[in-house]
Amino acid sequence: MRMVDLIEKKKLGIELSNEEINYIVKGYTGGDIPDYQMSAFLMAVYFRGMTGRETANLTMAYVNSGEKVNLSKIEGIKVDKHSSGGVGDKISLIVIPLVASLGIPVAKMSGRGLGHTGGTIDKLESIPGFKTELSTETFIDNVNKYKMAIVGQTANLTPGDKKTYALRDVTSTVNSIPLIASSIMSKKTASGADAIVLDVKVGSGAFMKSIGEARELAKTMVQIGKDVNIKTVAVITNMDQPLGREVGNFNEIKEIIQVLEGNGSEDEVTIALTIAAYMAILGGAFDDFDSAYIKLKYILKSGTALKKFKELINAQGGDSNIIENKDSVYNSKFNIEIKSESCGYIEAIMAELIGKGAMLLGAGRKIKSDKIDFSAGITLTKKVGEKVEKGDTICILHTNMDEYDEAEKIVKAAYVISEDIPNKIKYIYDVIL
Ligand code: URA
Repeated sequence: MRMVDLIEKKKLGIELSNEEINYIVKGYTGGDIPDYQMSAFLMAVYFRGMTGRETANLTMAYVNSGEKVNLSKIEGIKVDKHSSGGVGDKISLIVIPLVASLGIPVAKMSGRGLGHTGGTIDKLESIPGFKTELSTETFIDNVNKYKMAIVGQTANLTPGDKKTYALRDVTSTVNSIPLIASSIMSKKTASGADAIVLDVKVGSGAFMKSIGEARELAKTMVQIGKDVNIKTVAVITNMDQPLGREVGNFNEIKEIIQVLEGNGSEDEVTIALTIAAYMAILGGAFDDFDSAYIKLKYILKSGTALKKFKELINAQGGDSNIIENKDSVYNSKFNIEIKSESCGYIEAIMAELIGKGAMLLGAGRKIKSDKIDFSAGITLTKKVGEKVEKGDTICILHTNMDEYDEAEKIVKAAYVISEDIPNKIKYIYDVIL
C-alpha cells in the first residue's frame, strides 16, 4: 500500500477500506507517514467527507493506536458525559454528583483547558489538595465505593488522534465533522464507558456555529456509538453566551457549589438536569425523561447532590471546607468593574471573547506550559436578556496581573447592548437518540 494512492483515492471521493484506514493511522502514529502526506489526506477528507463506515473505522483505528482502559471491575452501567467545548462550562461537575446520587457509576476522564475554553481538571485542581491523578486501581475502587471518580486523561489513550489533532490544528482541518466525531468518540471508546451523553455546543463560543452543523455532528457521533456498541445520546445546547455567571477556575467551583445549593442560573441548571436525566436513562435508573428530570431536580433541591460533591472532594484528597468557606479561599489583587456605556438590554455576550479575556487575566493557558492563576476569571453580573442602565456594572474582571488593558478591551467588545428586548434564549435545541 502507498500513502500517495490513498490520498488520490480520497481526493476522488472513493470510500477507503478498513485496512487502508488502519494503514494510515498506524503509519502516521508510528512516524512512517510524514506530516506533509497526512496533511494532504486530511484536507482531502475535509473536502470529500467520509462515509459512516469510514468514520467508524477511523474511530476504531484511533482507539487501537493506544491503550484501552478496562473498567470491567466497576459494577453497573458506566455512564460518561462529554462536551464539545465551551466557555464557563461547568456542567460536568454538576452532573457527576447528581447522577452518582442515583447510584449510577460515573467514571469520568476529563481534559485541561487550552486557548479560550476551560478544562474540568484545572477547575478541580483549584480546590486545595484535590488529586486528579489516581492509579487505575484507586480510580476503580472510588467508583465502586462512591459511584464517582474523575481523573485526567492517561498519556497513552488514542495517540493516533492526539498526533492527528495537533496536525489538524495547524492545517486548518479541525472543522470537519467526520474528523471531530471520530476524535471525540475514539477517546470515549478507549476510556471504557458503556454509555455516553454528548453535550454538543452550538453558537459563538463553539466549534459548530449553526444548528444544522451541530445536528449533523451529533448524528454522526450517535451513529458511531451504535457502530462501536456504546449507547449514545447527543444533546444540542446553546453556547451563544458563557454558561452561568462565572468564567475561570475557582470562581466556577464557587458557582458549582451555588448550583448544588439550589441557587444556580437557569441556563446551567436546565442543561445540567437534561444531561443528567439522559445519563440516568442510559444508566438504567429510569425509562422516561420526565421522571428522571423530576427526580434529579429534587436531588438538587434537597442538597443530596451537594453532599455527594463534598464526598467527591474528600475522596480525592481535597479540602471540602471550601464549601463553607468558598468566599475566602482566594483573593485576587484587582477586581475591575466594567460599566455599561449605554442603557438597554444585553443582546449578546460573545463567549469566545469572554474565554479569551479570562485567559489573558491568568485563568487559562496560551501555551501548554503556562501556569494557571486559580483566582483569576470573570464574573458576568449581566447576562443576555437583562436590562442595563448606563453606568451599571456588566461584569467584573478578577486578576493578579498589573497589565490587564488588553483583557479589558476584549471583554468590553464581547458585550452587545441594544435598545430592543432580545428574544428569549433557547438552552436546548435538540436531542439526538
Ligand atoms: N474535541 C476533540 O476531542 N476533538 C476534536 O476534533 C474537536 C473537539
